[in-house]
Amino acid sequence: MKEKIYKSLPIILQNFACTIKGFQERKSRLGGNFKKYYEELLVSQWYDSKKIEDFQNEKLKSLLVYCNDNIPYYQKIFKEYNFKPNEVKSIKDLEKLPILTKEDVRENYQNLINPKFNGKVTKAHTSGSTGKSLQFLFSEDAVQYRWALWFRHKHRFGVNPDDSYATFTGQVAVPISQKKPPFWRENHAMKQTVFTMHHINKEKVPHIVDRLNKGGFVYYSGYASILYSLASIIDELNLKITAPPKVIFTGAEALLDYQREKISSVFGCLVTDQYGFSEGCGNASRCEHDLFHEDFEYGILECYNPTVNADGTKTGQVLATGFSNLAMPFIRYQVGDTATWIEKKCECGRESKTILEVNGRNEDFVITPEQNKILRFDYIFKDTVNIVEAQVVQRKLGEITIRIVRRKGYDLNEEKILRDEVHNKISPSLEVHFEYVDEIEREITGKFRAVKSYIK
Ligand SMILES: [Zn+2]
Repeated sequence: MKEKIYKSLPIILQNFACTIKGFQERKSRLGGNFKKYYEELLVSQWYDSKKIEDFQNEKLKSLLVYCNDNIPYYQKIFKEYNFKPNEVKSIKDLEKLPILTKEDVRENYQNLINPKFNGKVTKAHTSGSTGKSLQFLFSEDAVQYRWALWFRHKHRFGVNPDDSYATFTGQVAVPISQKKPPFWRENHAMKQTVFTMHHINKEKVPHIVDRLNKGGFVYYSGYASILYSLASIIDELNLKITAPPKVIFTGAEALLDYQREKISSVFGCLVTDQYGFSEGCGNASRCEHDLFHEDFEYGILECYNPTVNADGTKTGQVLATGFSNLAMPFIRYQVGDTATWIEKKCECGRESKTILEVNGRNEDFVITPEQNKILRFDYIFKDTVNIVEAQVVQRKLGEITIRIVRRKGYDLNEEKILRDEVHNKISPSLEVHFEYVDEIEREITGKFRAVKSYIK
């Protein structure tokens, strides 16, 4: 539904629209093979290390053979590297292949698509860690596999796919201009109540707390930064959560220790997270003992170019090879994050590889005149094709500068589109300036920062 129409609907019809969308989401996420995958995953997480190794070796071989049969890009690469998928013995053989960068994906977009794939696909795009949106195709089957993985993570903490929940994300379900409660919308199809980050401020939080205290939420899920803002305001206003959820799940950004402590103490429950990325070619989820376990059934996570730390842990770039998305498979894809692997027999009893922490997901944020903290601007760029990359910079309160590296077809009308997007989705009164540059400097660590703040 068009945003303009949605915004003009009475709240009861907005709830209805959310529910209709919910039915579609339910079908695409929890339909098809979801149940089968979910049940298989609940069993396979207990495989011993030998069985995991065999599983991955076999999955990888069949993926590579499949790519050789179907994907023009890999046919070319395999030839160039004289690589024989049929001779693959173990996941170590991956090292014979080049890494796949985001720029490679952009340049070879058409050739990475499986021309023979006949399942349902959706056009997806990245968010977050790179700042420039990357488009790719994702099969519905892979969507269902990923949801099965995510619900396996939840299952470790006593949550089931049918449980009711509250979400806290950037989704603008509640129009930003709304001044009176309710500052949430109900998606009855998914038993989901949607809270929007733009309404998390001192005036509105007491109403949000009232809604949360009516209870009925088995769990919350959302961005760590948003839940942290909410928790901080609740704490500051001395409000109390009287009907806490069983557990809170965060994702999409790193869950920092100080955020976790605050969220956990204010909501009076456990907080856990999992590591994933939109490209969907790898995932890791925390267990009851708080280590991330690689979700080995979904793909291979490589620790590339590692540094060995004093305590024996290894920190390296994350390369991901996904088993699930046959519409557009990524092999040795450079995600843009680094992670620290630890060799440890986890007390939970699972023998999949363990990750201590994922680094490089900690971004700066912009502060809006409404005092909201905004970490992610990626969704305002999602329809812009003439931008090579962009960075949002805040030097002064009340304003931001969008720094843009243009492509050939860029014209100044795009400023208006972007400004409107900011005013509709981020803040109605934030001043937006533009700056055109030839390139956006990287940080000392080499990392691209999508949002950069000079506010102390
Ligand atoms: Zn464990």
